[in-house]
Amino acid sequence: MTTHWIVTLSIVVGIGVSSGARALRAGSQRPSPEAAGPASSAEPSVTDFRVVLLGTGTPNPRPDRFGPSTLVEAGSERLVFDCGRSCTTRLWQLKIPLGTVKLFLTHLHSDHTVGIPDLWLTGWLRLPYGTRTEPFMVWGPEGTVAMMANLAKAYEADLRIRQPKQGFAIAAKDFTEGVVYQENGVRVTAFNVSHADINAFGFRIDYKGHSVVLSGDTRPSESLVAHARGADVVIHEVGMARPELLDKSEAARQLLATHHSSPEQAGEEFSRIAPKLAVYTHFTLLGDKQIPEPTMDELISRTRTTYRGPLEVGEDLLAISIGDSVAVQRIQR
Ligand SMILES: [Zn+2]
Ligand SMILES: [Zn+2]
Repeated sequence: MTTHWIVTLSIVVGIGVSSGARALRAGSQRPSPEAAGPASSAEPSVTDFRVVLLGTGTPNPRPDRFGPSTLVEAGSERLVFDCGRSCTTRLWQLKIPLGTVKLFLTHLHSDHTVGIPDLWLTGWLRLPYGTRTEPFMVWGPEGTVAMMANLAKAYEADLRIRQPKQGFAIAAKDFTEGVVYQENGVRVTAFNVSHADINAFGFRIDYKGHSVVLSGDTRPSESLVAHARGADVVIHEVGMARPELLDKSEAARQLLATHHSSPEQAGEEFSRIAPKLAVYTHFTLLGDKQIPEPTMDELISRTRTTYRGPLEVGEDLLAISIGDSVAVQRIQR
């Protein structure tokens, strides 16, 4: 896997020092030349706690941002949070066999679940990229058990044909707020967030005294801020449109107000939480034929009206190592 770990590297130590190449190009807070030095001059932190953004997109089927999905590796555990379009492709780019991960769902919107049949069934294949011999383990909000049972019905013809049968079984569990998983020193806590009227959750993952919080899909949420206190890294969704679009489109106004967090709102939460690093993912950037979607420069400058701390604009295969310091790497796609 090490051979895939190149491109840029920066280490974030405490507040005020930040950011890899993309965020710098996009105009975020600029660290000193030393802090942004080349990969060869910076040692990655020694840690077995790592987060990789597998997909940073939305339902929009764009080729540069796959569907929402985040990998958390902690010691021997490989946990995937949401399984949007092509999360399997990203996992295998990391040389992680699909059959070795456990899946957690923030909510049941299809952009977060359409990759599940692929992860489940391709993960069974007796080839290096598959290798599952145990049941496929899935945790999600109410409705997850039913969805997985229905998927088994949908793929009945395939399941009948395949041999051997080990690795096809599904072990699904519906959860409510609280600790949903605790194994091998890793604790996963689910907390309610505010995503229109949908039963939706964020997650806090704790390991060896460090933690990462995933916002899930949410508008501003006191629950998120409360659960993120003391977290090293906060990975947050964001949604925005240019004022001209909001002026003319009630649908855009409604979607952003009820489902998502604006850059200013996310920035306010980052300021209250004060993580070692804040990272954006799941970019709901609205536009139409006349009014283009906002740029990353606009996203960053709007965030900077409410937050001055370390910030990364996420991209697929952005990796964050979490230890006594937080290190960011961009893995070649
Ligand atoms: Zn959603
Ligand atoms: Zn979503």
